[in-house]
Amino acid sequence: MTIRLREVIGQDRAVNALQRAIAGNRVAHAYLFEGINGCGRRTTALALVASLFCRQPVAGEACGVCPSCKKLAAGSHPDLHLLQPLPDKRDISIEQVRELQQVLSLRPFEATRKACLIEPAERMSTGAANSLLKTLEEPPGHGLLILLTNQADLLLPTVRSRCQHLRFTPLDTADLTTLLQQQGMDPAVAATVAPLAEGSLEQAGNMDNEASITSRQTLLDTLRQVRYQQVSTVFDAGERLAGNREDTLELFTLLISLLRDMVLLRSSAASLIANTFLQGRLAEEAERFLPARLMEAMDLALETRRAIQGNVSPKLALDRFLLRYSRLRTA
Ligand SMILES: [Zn+2]
Repeated sequence: MTIRLREVIGQDRAVNALQRAIAGNRVAHAYLFEGINGCGRRTTALALVASLFCRQPVAGEACGVCPSCKKLAAGSHPDLHLLQPLPDKRDISIEQVRELQQVLSLRPFEATRKACLIEPAERMSTGAANSLLKTLEEPPGHGLLILLTNQADLLLPTVRSRCQHLRFTPLDTADLTTLLQQQGMDPAVAATVAPLAEGSLEQAGNMDNEASITSRQTLLDTLRQVRYQQVSTVFDAGERLAGNREDTLELFTLLISLLRDMVLLRSSAASLIANTFLQGRLAEEAERFLPARLMEAMDLALETRRAIQGNVSPKLALDRFLLRYSRLRTA
């Protein structure tokens, strides 16, 4: 779906500033969008890019139907780049910034300029931030850089001063309720969750994730109970976790997330884990593996998920996984 600036909810000040810049042909080449996670910074950034990339904008806004708008909506526009920490890395590295600079120095493929979102900008290492300075001052080929941050004062002053700084406010309860309902949340749930979410759509979404939290917990508890020497525990677990193909794929997505955390805990990288609420139990389970075996369990989970995506019976694949998982642990 194409995002338009006028459709952004709850950020009138920032949006008006951008609309005026577009109308006056004064769009800056570097912006700093500051606000809490889940308040609409990224949506606004994408709407700005859409309006600039659109082949036939209507009153300064993206048309939604041209090839450029369609590619952006599909997340496949070749001239939009995202700079984020690599998976399992805390920071955006200097190498990543250099690669970006290399890409920006090329001619745009389809749009009239290239654009890059840097998120979260405060995670740029000092080296990365320093090497970005010149690009911020003068992006090649009218490139547009949009830095997203929840705390601008964590950025180097030299970075801040080269960007036009727009502040995003936490969403108010009414706007948040509207957005949650737009995303398909039941109105009663939205009304309950919105006042508690501190102005963040992201936080509101997480609060509705209780089902997912419970299923992770159940899954981990079930995993902890399987014993290779007592095969009935494996089949009991298989019975408990069995579902159709779609359910089983979802189960493996959760499982892979748990295993990833176990690998991280075994490598003393506890600060990177996703399922923090299960940290104690995950650490206990991880300790029952030799580190190399844990990696094997991870590979096995990935392989099993691929097999289920193919044509293997989900129940059979699940049982085989549980059996091999319990063997890896005791080995
Ligand atoms: Zn368009």
